[in-house]
Amino acid sequence: ASVNELTDDIPETHRIQDRRQPQAPGLREGFKNTPDTDPDLPGNRAWGRDIAERMQTSQLGIETSDKNWVSSAEELDTIMSRGVSAAEQWQSLGANERAEILHRAGDVLESKRADLLEVMGAECGKTIDQGDPEVSEAIDFAHYYAERGRDLEHVDGAQFVPSKLTVVTPPWNFPTAIPAGSTLSALASGSAVVIKPAHQAKRTGAVMVEALWEAGVPRDVLQYVQLGERELGAQFVSHPSVDRLILTGAYDTAKLFRSFRHDLPLLAETSGKNAIIVTPSADYDLAAKDVAYSAFGHAGQKCSAASLVILVGSVATSQRFRNQLLDAVRSLKVGSPWDLQTQVGPVIEPAQGKLLRGLTTLGEGESWVIEPKQLDESGKVWRPGIREGVKRGSEYHMTEYFGPILGIMTAPSLEEAVNFVNDIEYGLTSGLHSLDRDEIAYWLSTVEAGNLYINRGITGAIVQRQPFGGWKKSAIGPGTKAGGPNYLIGMGTWHDSPVIT
Ligand code: GLU
Repeated sequence: ASVNELTDDIPETHRIQDRRQPQAPGLREGFKNTPDTDPDLPGNRAWGRDIAERMQTSQLGIETSDKNWVSSAEELDTIMSRGVSAAEQWQSLGANERAEILHRAGDVLESKRADLLEVMGAECGKTIDQGDPEVSEAIDFAHYYAERGRDLEHVDGAQFVPSKLTVVTPPWNFPTAIPAGSTLSALASGSAVVIKPAHQAKRTGAVMVEALWEAGVPRDVLQYVQLGERELGAQFVSHPSVDRLILTGAYDTAKLFRSFRHDLPLLAETSGKNAIIVTPSADYDLAAKDVAYSAFGHAGQKCSAASLVILVGSVATSQRFRNQLLDAVRSLKVGSPWDLQTQVGPVIEPAQGKLLRGLTTLGEGESWVIEPKQLDESGKVWRPGIREGVKRGSEYHMTEYFGPILGIMTAPSLEEAVNFVNDIEYGLTSGLHSLDRDEIAYWLSTVEAGNLYINRGITGAIVQRQPFGGWKKSAIGPGTKAGGPNYLIGMGTWHDSPVIT
């Protein structure tokens, strides 16, 4: 059922809530972030309950994800050459017509908000309140990139030539927003796309792609595949007809893909090991809440998640901060995505390997403040844990776990805390909780991360306001940020225009 059917008795605008700031000066006119759903309105609660119920038996996306398996190198060749031919048609449409289709894609995605929430919960364990902003983000990408695509045609003295065929390999943790953002950016630049969603999120990817087809993106311009044979993976990401690869995933995966074909332009957002620093000048209530949410939202399965909190000076011995943090974490409701009260859902697969080690073993000098606990037989539902005594240079300090664990480090000074952050080979998100201007200025000029957040959580970048991209080993590519003004610029080649006299 659509939003309208369920909220017929109240005006549609009641469904929404604009949690975000009004447009600040200097931002692009005409673009407004899509509001999220307000869960407190009675009509929306009924809407949420209905989605939660459908999650448990959901069949969405199965047809497309079942139909589009590629099982041989020959089939792969056919898909790729179809994409290359379709690119010509897509490019000859021109940026304005493409923009119209992409704006429509934003509208269709909005009309499928409930479907997307249903399938994300069913397939990836995403709760409705965590999935909802993600759908808003996908819609934002559609409208935002539609306009940035037009901009590419208005650069004086230079002509933009888009890639013909872009391969998109997104992850499962943001199964709507990341596949949509990567696909829409390539489409807006004028490229055809072949997308292979992560197998854990193949149905969500299918629902997203179906929305774009419905909006008018031709099926040859945007093709959906799942790979029938593991061995096809290398051929898929290094196929000679492909001229760009957009990947979001682990740093090692990006390195592996690059090794298959060194000359292939790669736009990759990779791993993160992110910290929030809390200084004695901070608002402790706010800091505790932001640390808890950044660490344990979507069970910590975000590249942007907080995996470390670094307590500076007297914060380390502050009973008040400690109590706030422990209360915030202990009161998190852990459970299934169809329980509307759940704040920490399941992890995508039963915890194993590195994640299981992180959840069950301690390094030297470390102890549990809250010990993680497996709450179901499958090994997917875990009470989040906090360890303290994490030492500089230890395994926990340096490793990305991608799950519901947080480590506490203590530092004698802000300078030392920043050193702990900069020791890490990744540089994706970073946070500071401080109400002191000098501390903020120092941190801003020294910390090495692509996305810096002051006095707020460190997840949930917002299109246009907070373009998202990594530094150090958290990104590979031209250094442009998703959801920012330059992202499309790196998606083709630039030629000097002939001077016409
Ligand atoms: N863009 C997401 C955020 O800001 C993170 C994406 C990711 O985890 O890959 O939280």
